[in-house]
Amino acid sequence: MLLAFSLWSAAGIISGRTGSPAARKHAIVSIEKPAAAVLKSLCLDILMDWNGKIYIVASADDLKKMKEANIRYRDETAIFSAPEKGAVSLQTLRNGAFHSYGELERDLLALERSHPHLAKVYDIGDSLEMRNIYALKISDNVQFEEEGEAQVLILGCHHAREWISVEVPYYVAEHLVVSYDSDARIRSLIDRSEVWIVPLVNPDGLEYSIHFYRYWRKNTRNNGDGTYGVDPNRNYSYQWGHDDEGSSPNTISDVYRGPEPFSEPETRAVRDLVEQNDFQVVISYHNYSQVILYPWGYTADPTNKDALLRNMAAAMAARMEAVNGRVYGYGRSGNALYVTNGDTVDWAFGAKGIPAFTIELPPVDQLLGAFINAEEDILPIARENIPAMLYIINWAVNNRNQ
Ligand SMILES: [Zn+2]
Repeated sequence: MLLAFSLWSAAGIISGRTGSPAARKHAIVSIEKPAAAVLKSLCLDILMDWNGKIYIVASADDLKKMKEANIRYRDETAIFSAPEKGAVSLQTLRNGAFHSYGELERDLLALERSHPHLAKVYDIGDSLEMRNIYALKISDNVQFEEEGEAQVLILGCHHAREWISVEVPYYVAEHLVVSYDSDARIRSLIDRSEVWIVPLVNPDGLEYSIHFYRYWRKNTRNNGDGTYGVDPNRNYSYQWGHDDEGSSPNTISDVYRGPEPFSEPETRAVRDLVEQNDFQVVISYHNYSQVILYPWGYTADPTNKDALLRNMAAAMAARMEAVNGRVYGYGRSGNALYVTNGDTVDWAFGAKGIPAFTIELPPVDQLLGAFINAEEDILPIARENIPAMLYIINWAVNNRNQ
């Protein structure tokens, strides 16, 4: 699994699309864990914390910063190299069973066409490169704009390389739609709710990750200084830029937060959708780590609804484990090793008062694939998330107007 991708295959492939980041070489390096504390201020792209070492995806600039900070690292790139070295073209099935932007568009429109009473596709905004950001609304009487029902928002793929985070929201949508007639519980939930699913918040980034550099994380913003990309999950306004540990002011950083809150059309599309509706819960899918995170991310402190959020996360984790036996951890985001600021769930909870969760999908660590999931694992991962989403929809229905 781990060796089934090519870290370097994208390096040297030139983007034909203007406005795209030039492919850049990155290395994977490890450092001994006792030295890891000094990493926090450097805003590096941490792959994993495993077996006493911290693994980092490092650009040449990152390596220079580490040298300047006297951090000793070991180049581990070789263990991640893969046999595939050939160039790719835009026409290959490079993304395999994972959805590209075009394939997702096709499948969402097909769901709408086959179930017009249950599923409606909305274009909630355009990305920087003018791709549509799609939302699928699922409800009975879906053609009616306002039914006053409970609302749930499920988001995927803020981060380009996290391909499985497109698949889970998509398959949740498909399951809700195709099971409506045969599954009385789903029918009962959908009759009393509106489920909005945005499987691909960052379409430009996903396409760049598919065709040019598998590990691309951000969108493809030209920052005007030779660097590209804003991290959409650091660009929301609540506690935006709270410190330089949870996000970076440096354009080259993989966690660059942008010049101002909501500077990016992708985050504005999510903001506007939330402000035009009355969501009871927001779920944002990412990978990897196999953990359910809830606010705050910007601080280790608890929110004033800590017990509620913890109980909801525990309920989801139990339902997920029951499907395939895969254990999902849960906890406060900022209580983990690294804080974040300007992310989706801090904003949803902090600015809008909506219980919100980041679900970091499998695998649990780098050696099981990190951002790369096996194609055969797409459906098992999606299936184990369905009972958790049914729990969330049911919770929203029961807690409407409270
Ligand atoms: Zn992510």
